[in-house]
Amino acid sequence: MSNTSQSLPVGEEIFLLKMGEMVLKGLNRRTFEERLMGNARRRLEPYGKFRIYSRQSITYVEPKEAGCDLDGAFETLRRLFGAVGLSRAKACEKTPEAILETAKTYLRDDLMAARTFKVESKRSDKSFPMTSIQLSQFVGGELNEAFPHIQADMHTPEVVVHVEVRDFAAYVHANPTPGAGGLPVGVGGTAVSLLSGGIDSPVASWMMAKRGLALEMVHFFSYPYTSPEAKEKVLELARLLTPWCGRLTVHVVPFTEIQEELRRSCPESLFTLLMRRFMMRIAQRVAQRVGAHGLVTGESLGQVASQTMEAMAVTGQVVSLPIFRPVVGMDKEEIVRIARKIGTFETSILPYEDCCTVFTPRHPKTRPSLEEIQEAEAALDIDGLIETAMQGIERVVLHP
Ligand code: ATP
Ligand code: MG
Repeated sequence: MSNTSQSLPVGEEIFLLKMGEMVLKGLNRRTFEERLMGNARRRLEPYGKFRIYSRQSITYVEPKEAGCDLDGAFETLRRLFGAVGLSRAKACEKTPEAILETAKTYLRDDLMAARTFKVESKRSDKSFPMTSIQLSQFVGGELNEAFPHIQADMHTPEVVVHVEVRDFAAYVHANPTPGAGGLPVGVGGTAVSLLSGGIDSPVASWMMAKRGLALEMVHFFSYPYTSPEAKEKVLELARLLTPWCGRLTVHVVPFTEIQEELRRSCPESLFTLLMRRFMMRIAQRVAQRVGAHGLVTGESLGQVASQTMEAMAVTGQVVSLPIFRPVVGMDKEEIVRIARKIGTFETSILPYEDCCTVFTPRHPKTRPSLEEIQEAEAALDIDGLIETAMQGIERVVLHP
């Protein structure tokens, strides 16, 4: 065992993150890896000091000091987009006996619970006295003696015992835990996500973050029609997304004046659509401010009057950025299932009014024509209203 600063105290646990292989073909692999490592580094800050590096599609996370919170760190990494699988591995001395002993003790629970297993060895240190195949045979044979109830099975083993002989130590680990998958947040650039207090928009945000987008959140706030609690609820939803998305900024846009102006000057049946057009325009302005190149909404086709194809055409028509609607083809139950999984559901269903429900028309237009919408807007000082709203934006930063 070497004594350089690179060396790891034998006996220490480390994590291995497996990156999505398919993805590496399409994207610049180095960019992907560096983004993943940078994101991991930031997420792990509260849990101690870690060394993070990548080799052959695996990102290694090693504690640099005693007293790191390994359980907390591992839990956090399960929400790191870009990692398809995570393993906890035990480091040991680079001798066949130490490796075997580590496999017996460290993987005892996995081996006791399984009926079949196999050993897979990798050897990047070519001075190790056995080949990978010899090492697998040695460890496999000995494990079979120590755990007589398990059978070797080369094709569909319940447990794969992985042994890696690397520069400074050997590592032993078993079946990986599924990771969050997707792409590291940020590799795809930044988008602005319209976050309401509902079930759908947090899920939509999560889905786009999973595809590698860094998000800036925009929330339209209609005080006093909606309460400070309604705003807190939205901030809480954003906070709940930070373990997945990283640090988030919520741009809280004062929306009351626009809504009151619409109520004064425009036909009631068009309220929702006119409101949504303002939301899109302002979201695009925020995008320009922060250097974002797309918009995200939680719209789902046919869910409400403002989410027909015609309505979406009319709301999308005021912006030039691409609009991502990842839940557009999903049923409510499917969206709810994701909301529960990611932890936003319970907060989304808290009963605070949102700005759209307060102003919902009794007979909303489901098949609006662009002409009638534009005619209604002719009465408005659109730029002035947007400018005032932009100037009133409050930014709230939320940390994981
Ligand atoms: P959600 O469950 O996300 O609230 P919804 O089914 O209630 O969606 P709408 O109220 O029609 O649908 O809103 C559609 C989308 O418009 C939302 O998913 C969200 O992206 C955006 N949106 C609506 N209201 C607001 C708001 N007050 N602030 C920011 N975005 C909003
Ligand atoms: Mg809503």
